[in-house]
Amino acid sequence: MSQKREPEYYSGDGDCPHCHAIDALEYPVDKGVVHWVVDGCTVHGVLDFRRCEACRQSSYCVALDIIRNPNVSDELTQEYFWSNKPRQGHTTVSTISPGWKIRGLPTEWRVYQTETLDGVIERHFFGPFPDDRKLWSPSDSSKEPWKHALRIICRVTKRLTRRTRRGH
Ligand SMILES: [Zn+2]
Repeated sequence: MSQKREPEYYSGDGDCPHCHAIDALEYPVDKGVVHWVVDGCTVHGVLDFRRCEACRQSSYCVALDIIRNPNVSDELTQEYFWSNKPRQGHTTVSTISPGWKIRGLPTEWRVYQTETLDGVIERHFFGPFPDDRKLWSPSDSSKEPWKHALRIICRVTKRLTRRTRRGH
């Protein structure tokens, strides 16, 4: 795997899904966040849009954070979920092959595990996906990446938290 110069938070694959330029995605121009607690886990999902410096087309990535702790501290929430600062150390990168299939998702993806005082945060990355909204009718198309992101976030969360419940 090649070294990426981007901050850890955006280290989803930086290659453009439109023109396949390598490491060409710029800093996010727009983002949306969902945050909730379910089945003893705190879940934080981020959708962000980035433009390609080569072809100027837009794409989006989904990052899903899960920590198996329903009562994380304000400090942790602030530092790990709402701040975009890159973090050093105590993070391991691996590839998860969960053994179950969700339609529209790859069979494996990257996971960053960061040790914190409140437990291990798993950060799952999906994308970048091409943002093709301009090809669709403008009326209902503006929500499409959001729908996609929420589908990923909800389904993966459901699977992963179910795994937790079975484990106890
Ligand atoms: Zn491109």
